[in-house]
Amino acid sequence: MSLDNLINNVHLNLSMSEEEVIDLLTKISNTFKDTFFRRNQLNNIQDDVEILFPILKSSGYIDEYIQCDCGEETEIYLPNTTHCEYCNQLLKNTFVHEITNLFKLKNALLKELNLRNEEILKSVIDDQFLGIFYELKDNIDTIIPFLGAGTSLPLGLNNWANLLNEMGGSLNQQDKSFFDKLINKGDYLGAINVLKNNTLNLSTDEDIKKHIVRQIEAKYKSGLAENYHNIKDIINLEPAFFITTNYDSSLIDYKEGDTYPYTLEQIEDAHELLNKGKQIVLHLHGHIRFPRSMIITKEDYERLYKDDRIKSYFNAIMGTKNLLFIGFSFDDEYFKDIYNTSFKNLGGKHFIIQDNLHPDEARDMIKVGLRPLSIKVETNNYGENYVKALKIVLKNLL
Ligand SMILES: [Zn+2]
Repeated sequence: MSLDNLINNVHLNLSMSEEEVIDLLTKISNTFKDTFFRRNQLNNIQDDVEILFPILKSSGYIDEYIQCDCGEETEIYLPNTTHCEYCNQLLKNTFVHEITNLFKLKNALLKELNLRNEEILKSVIDDQFLGIFYELKDNIDTIIPFLGAGTSLPLGLNNWANLLNEMGGSLNQQDKSFFDKLINKGDYLGAINVLKNNTLNLSTDEDIKKHIVRQIEAKYKSGLAENYHNIKDIINLEPAFFITTNYDSSLIDYKEGDTYPYTLEQIEDAHELLNKGKQIVLHLHGHIRFPRSMIITKEDYERLYKDDRIKSYFNAIMGTKNLLFIGFSFDDEYFKDIYNTSFKNLGGKHFIIQDNLHPDEARDMIKVGLRPLSIKVETNNYGENYVKALKIVLKNLL
C-alpha cells in the first residue's frame, strides 16, 4: 500500500481530514520510530485503535515481531520463528513462554511522511522564505511568542479599525469623517481622541475601556475548537512565557498551568518572566479583567513605554531569547522604539510571521533586524486560509 492509500483509508474509516491523518501518522512515526511497541501503546495517541491498527497493519508500513519471555531471558523474534533459542521448545508453547506481539514502523513511513510534510509546508511558504523558516526551527527552544491582534481575530474579536468603527456612531457628520480618516490612516490613538473630545458617552478613558471590555466579552467565541484558530498551536511551542498586546483571554483560556492574566504591574522583574516552567502570559497592554491596566490612549502609551521597567524587561528578554511576532503588524511606533533600542544594544534573532509579504517589505524588516517569514494566504476566504497556513507553519516548527 502506498502512503496515499494509507492516508485515504484512515481518512475514510476514522472520518478525519487528510491534514489530520497526516498529523496523526507523523505523530505516531515520531513517537515510535526505531522502537518496538505494543498495539495498546497506540491508545495514548489515538482512541480508535480497533479501527486504526488493522489499517496500519495492512498498509505494509509495520513489521511484526514476537517477544518471548523464557524464564529470565527475553528475546525478540521474527514472526516466522518456531523455536526458542534458550530452551528449544516451541515459541508458542505458553506453558514455558510468555508471548507478546510487538511492532515496529518501517523507516520508509517516517521518510515518506517527512517528504509529504515538506510539500505541504512549501505550499504555504515561498522558496525564498524557507531558509528563515529553518532558522526559526533551529532556534525554537529559545522562542518567546509575541502575539498581536491577528491571533485573536479568528476568535470573533475585532481589529482596532473595526473596534473603533463600532464606537463612532454618536459622532456628528464632520467629526465622523475626520474620525474615519484617522482610522484609515491607522492613527487609532488620534481617533480615540476624537471620541473623547466629541462624544458624551465615550468622553473619558474609563468609559472607553468599559466599552471595549463589553465588546470583547460579547464577541469572544469561548471554547472555539482548535481547528479554527492558532492559539493552541502557539501554546504547543512550549515557550518559557508568552507576551501579547491583546486584552482578551484567548491564551490563558487554552493553556494549562498558570492561567492568570499578568500585566506589567504584577510582574516583579524580568527574572519572574524568564523563570522556566511557569509559562506565564504577560499582557503588555493590559487585560479586560483589570480595565485600568488597558493601554488605550496616547497618554497610556506614553506612560507605559516611558517606564524604565519595560525597557529593562525587553533588554533582559532580547538578551537571552528570540521573539517571534505572530499576528502583530509592527507598525506601533511606541513598541518599535523599545524594540529598536533593545535590538541595537543586544542584537539577536527575532522572527515575524506575516502573510503575503512583498520582497521589498521583507527587506525593510531585515534592515531593522527582523527575520520575516511570509506565509501564502489566498485572499478569498482570507480568515480561514490564514489560520490554516499558520497552523501548518507552527506544527512544522515542532
Ligand atoms: Zn524458551
